[in-house]
Amino acid sequence: LNRRLAEFGTTIFAEMSALATSTGSINLGQGFPDTDGPEEIREAAVRALRDGRGNQYPPGPGVPELRTAIASHQKRHYGLSYDPDTEVLVTAGATEAIAASLLALLEPGDEVIALEPYYDSYAASIAMAGGTRVPVTLRPDEGDDGDGEGAHRRFRLDLDELRDAVTERTRLLLVNTPHNPTGTVLTRAELTEIARIAVERDLLVVTDEVYEHLVFDDAEHVPLASLPGMRERTVTIGSAGKTFSFTGWKVGWVTAPPALVGAVRSAKQFLTYVASGPFQYAVAEALALPDAYFEDFRADMLRKRDVLAAGLTEAGFKVFRSAGTYFITTDIRPLGESDGFAFCRALPERAGVVAIPNAVFYDHREQGAPFVRFAFCKKDEVLHEAAGRLRRMS
Ligand code: PMP
Ligand code: GLN
Repeated sequence: LNRRLAEFGTTIFAEMSALATSTGSINLGQGFPDTDGPEEIREAAVRALRDGRGNQYPPGPGVPELRTAIASHQKRHYGLSYDPDTEVLVTAGATEAIAASLLALLEPGDEVIALEPYYDSYAASIAMAGGTRVPVTLRPDEGDDGDGEGAHRRFRLDLDELRDAVTERTRLLLVNTPHNPTGTVLTRAELTEIARIAVERDLLVVTDEVYEHLVFDDAEHVPLASLPGMRERTVTIGSAGKTFSFTGWKVGWVTAPPALVGAVRSAKQFLTYVASGPFQYAVAEALALPDAYFEDFRADMLRKRDVLAAGLTEAGFKVFRSAGTYFITTDIRPLGESDGFAFCRALPERAGVVAIPNAVFYDHREQGAPFVRFAFCKKDEVLHEAAGRLRRMS
């Protein structure tokens, strides 16, 4: 393995899912739903396979039906207009979209600012592109109502730290909202400030919005591209995996102005060229589902969040409010623990549950040490069972 990749080893998701399988534990580690997406969309994929649509190489940028559906989705949900022919690119999941964007847009030595903790593929993709990552740490905040209940406890971005992190060599901001693993959803005010910094310092922005439809309570998903001065400098990334509960299909996308999409396409064509022929047609139908689909999906996940949050609280964890995503981040110190790695390694034995140590998402590992992430995109009975096991933990 070369020096660029040597530090990364095996992704934590593979490691922890293997541990769940080998110990027969409930897997609240890797974020994937245990219920597949809508039957009618699975049928659409079967139809495409049977009718011979997409069984041979589809067009490199993605099939026209899907590019049109992606553009319509951005218009319908956010009022953003993108030309399906020049401003939309279909990728092999958001993972490829992230890698291709960084490979296309970075020169060796360029600095990329990423919110820490960050999704693990960001660091590897920046490294593969020869860039330098500059983490800006989201800090735990107890919320200001002081009632000790933690209803507003969240991880917060320090905008001054972000501003100070920009140097002459900064090329790009890599943003993620709703944020994995913390469950923080950046507010309109925070995003407006991020946008102001990007415009002032003339930075490109790659924004990973794969959990765009999973925002809870009064949180609102604001696409960065919708803010003043941002459309022309922003690459927005989405994924059918998260929005339609088909993480195995690996259909993602990029929307951006023509020059940026063209650049990302240049990299993408030599990574996979294309992927997921028949699934592209099915995802085109999924994106056109009525609003009720998106509302029900969100309501369902919100209930699951509440089931797991209550169970974790009862088991003695300090729970951060998840305003979005599939995930709840907890602090394990009230359990008398301080090392999330050690805790997660022992958890299958102690409780028959698998979780993810947030420290793997940090450069400043000590900052992430006491935090552990649990996924709630699971059947209610699975969440209840996991919560019971954690309560009885040895
Ligand atoms: N970004 C974030 C923040 C994620 O949590 C994930 C994991 N699903 C991805 C990107 C990758 O998405 P995909 O499965 O579409 O490649
Ligand atoms: N995004 C998922 C998570 O955060 C995992 C995806 C993967 O396994 N690469 O759990």
